[in-house]
Amino acid sequence: RYLKLRRVNKQMNNDIESVLYDQKQLDKRMDEVAAELTNEYNGKDPIVVSVLTGAMIFTSDMVKRMDLKLTLDLIKASSYVGAESSGNVKIEQDVKSDLKGRDVIIMEDIMDTGHTLAYLKKLFLERGANSVKIVCMLDKPETRVEDIKPDIACFTAPNAFLVGYGLDYDGHYRNLPYIGVLKKEVYSN
Ligand code: 5GP
Ligand code: MG
Ligand code: MG
Repeated sequence: RYLKLRRVNKQMNNDIESVLYDQKQLDKRMDEVAAELTNEYNGKDPIVVSVLTGAMIFTSDMVKRMDLKLTLDLIKASSYVGAESSGNVKIEQDVKSDLKGRDVIIMEDIMDTGHTLAYLKKLFLERGANSVKIVCMLDKPETRVEDIKPDIACFTAPNAFLVGYGLDYDGHYRNLPYIGVLKKEVYSN
């Protein structure tokens, strides 16, 4: 199985410095977190909002493990640093659902500065959500700017540039079946 994955990823493996979490570790941790959510939202119909594009692979794996009659929706947000050096978030594609009275679970690939998730949480509460919980694949606490934490994070990440399992560099590497550190030489030239 390992050899098979190596062969599938022969175009990308050379760009990776080290593997941080492999598929087996992700599977085990997603089983735990999904069981926690299944228990917590028992009998409810939470709305899982996946933050595109980075969270799509994590979300897909998570919702299949959650034994709930849930609703799935998508949002595309981009965060950029403006002249005032504060994070601005733009909604590029909004959810289709009315969030009034709903229990929202935001699924995100990684919380870094926290700008994106602080913005989305506030927005969903303003729209009348009953509750908003943040579930992240990775939490990068060292570079946090906003006063916010994920409610659940699968793993803590070091302050390095990570790719794979949804995380991209310039649109690539999202389909790697592991989370890895990208070699500096790949993005520094
Ligand atoms: P925040 O608003 O928390 O600063 O931004 C989070 C977003 O920044 C993530 O959803 C992700 O798109 C991007 N990001 C933060 N750290 C990394 C990283 O290590 N690798 C990649 N590929 N994207 C990251
Ligand atoms: Mg993201
Ligand atoms: Mg990105």
